[in-house]
Amino acid sequence: MYLTFTCPGCEHRTVTGELSGDCQLTCEACGWTKPVSSDQIGTSGPRKCLRCGNSDLWRQKNFPQWAGLLCVAAGAISSSIAWAYHRPVLALGILMAFALADMLLYIIMPDVLVCYRCQTKHHQTDVSGHATFNHELAERYRQERIRERKVRPPAPASPLAHPERPSSDLK
Ligand SMILES: [Zn+2]
Ligand SMILES: [Zn+2]
Repeated sequence: MYLTFTCPGCEHRTVTGELSGDCQLTCEACGWTKPVSSDQIGTSGPRKCLRCGNSDLWRQKNFPQWAGLLCVAAGAISSSIAWAYHRPVLALGILMAFALADMLLYIIMPDVLVCYRCQTKHHQTDVSGHATFNHELAERYRQERIRERKVRPPAPASPLAHPERPSSDLK
């Protein structure tokens, strides 16, 4: 199993190496670390998010949305061209071929477990026992993030970043 996570310290996105046994998550940018025990990884995949410990995870196809959209767009465009040249059978054939390719890609692509709270992706793990995406639950976590942002104002900038600071201070 490996993870794609966003660092809580600096928001840098990291893809880890293979995780097994007792190991740790490390941010490549700022050095943030979090220990992970073999119990957390488990034999049949993690029950909780390895980055934040949240137990709400959903399983999804690791299929980038842009790839699906590109497939549909390419099919629609080439089929329209065939249609413009008065080749309706070819136009229909192209549409069906792209739909089939899209479906095959979807079947082949592996599942990943995603954390509702921190969006960490857990790759190459057993996803059985986890439900698919739930909009209500996702909305709850979105509200939680908004509340957190209100409670925790952004960290004050360093004094050097304040241009309005009187210049007499610097003398
Ligand atoms: Zn970091
Ligand atoms: Zn998480």
